[in-house]
Amino acid sequence: MIRAEQLASPNPEQALQASLKELADIKFALDQSTIVAITDQRGIINYVNDEFCRISKYSREELLGQDHRIINSGYHSKEFIRDLWATIAGGKVWKGELRNRAKDGSIYWVDTTIVPFVNSEGKPYQYIAIRHDITQRKLAEEEIRRQAALLDESHDAILVRDLDETIVYWNRGAEVTYGWTADEAIGKDARQLLFDDLPPEFEEAQRELAETGQWRGELNQVTKDGRAIIVESRWTLVHDDKKAPYQKLVVNTDITEEKRLQTELQHAAQLSLVGELAAGLAHEIKNPLAGIQGVVDILLRRRDANDPESEALRGVRNEVDRIDQIVRALLDRARPRVLATQPSSLTEVVRRAVSVARAQIFGRSEGGRIRVQFHPPDDPILLPIDAAQIEDAVLNLIINAIQASEDYGRVDVRILRSPPDETADDLDEVMIEVSDKGPGISEENLSRIFNPFFTTTKGGTGLGLPAVRRIVRAHSGRVGVKSVLGEGSTFTIHLPINDAET
Ligand code: FAD
Repeated sequence: MIRAEQLASPNPEQALQASLKELADIKFALDQSTIVAITDQRGIINYVNDEFCRISKYSREELLGQDHRIINSGYHSKEFIRDLWATIAGGKVWKGELRNRAKDGSIYWVDTTIVPFVNSEGKPYQYIAIRHDITQRKLAEEEIRRQAALLDESHDAILVRDLDETIVYWNRGAEVTYGWTADEAIGKDARQLLFDDLPPEFEEAQRELAETGQWRGELNQVTKDGRAIIVESRWTLVHDDKKAPYQKLVVNTDITEEKRLQTELQHAAQLSLVGELAAGLAHEIKNPLAGIQGVVDILLRRRDANDPESEALRGVRNEVDRIDQIVRALLDRARPRVLATQPSSLTEVVRRAVSVARAQIFGRSEGGRIRVQFHPPDDPILLPIDAAQIEDAVLNLIINAIQASEDYGRVDVRILRSPPDETADDLDEVMIEVSDKGPGISEENLSRIFNPFFTTTKGGTGLGLPAVRRIVRAHSGRVGVKSVLGEGSTFTIHLPINDAET
């Protein structure tokens, strides 16, 4: 703020001349380096310098007597202009960046300082605006913002790492992929943020990047909530003006789901091949087995009960019976059954499986002490399913849970519906959960339990879980498993539903 009396001087004529010259010099210097306009208290322009005319492309005559609306570009809000006026009308200096429109319609930006000149009552009687052209900087900023917005459109995680692996850029896709916000990720070491254990290929990738300027490969990484993900990663070395390596641009595509589907497809193909082989084999074994059973029965009948060979023959008969049972189970499990779907009450289907499991364990030493608890849903759920096959699948999971349970253990069977507030992308689904408090499954075994013939149970065929998965998949569902060593396991059958079906 400049007071009018500061410009006047009570000194003699000479001092006045000196002051006036000084002011003229300052004004000249300002005129040379900046865009200057002076207005009265209503904002009517009564002085503009050449720089103002040059940038606004208006002649001095066109500008004098107008207010600054003549260059208003319509970009700033009423509140913004009101704040400008409230500040200067209150006798205070206003500073800000203004976007103006020149006579030919082109846009220019000015960094502006408006200084009010106030009279002895403190009321502004004129304003002087001093500005600098910042059009290039603003356009560059706009371009950067536009490009950043484009990068944010990408579903890929795009990040920039310094040579010491510090994250300096993190796009929206990276926030979605890893769960870390840009604020949380920027400044962190990428090796610590994105990996549980740094894989050996990371160092190899660094070497290749340094040598060729590029690297491409797959990496196992981890998200904020500890989820393991697989990404296809493309690295590019960014150079500075002097062609020295400066930063690393990284584009990561989450391919976890793709990989999972690939593995599942491989398993499915494997299972169907094994199924065919097993069915063929079981068929071939059945007839000779029946022959052996018949012969042993004849030999047994011919012998006296006290004959010492009778005991050995009974042993043979038992073993043959056991082989027969295994062959039947193999045929039953390995041969894909056609789905016979009809609307069925899921509660009833699961209740039946629970009853059969209870009946099967009754009298067995470990089973007798294990409780199978069923938690039905509040409302009935009607689904178009093959009730017999789903019952088989649930029964299989319950029997596995019982076998895994310790003495006096407990198996919980629940039916749950996916919560209604899930995002629209998620399928509405019903879940049948079978949990035990057994020893849990090691991470190594967890990846193999759905493989045919893989078993850790004595006497198990390793065909139960693949069959469960086959049945559930035939219903367009999936089987999930969560297990904590020493705490137990939960197997979950997810079946899709839509409201029309319930
Ligand atoms: P309006 O609708 O005209 O005004 C918005 C609000 O601002 C009003 O509701 C009112 O609260 C307040 N206001 C407007 N005029 C006055 C006034 N005369 N007195 C008190 N309050 C008022 N504008 C630019 O766009 N670019 C510039 O480079 C620029 N430089 C300026 C330099 C100086 C020295 C001064 C004094 C003003 C400058 N202005 C500039 C502001 C300009 O005079 C207009 O007020 C503005 O362009 C009008 O914008 P609008 O039509 O969107 O808002």
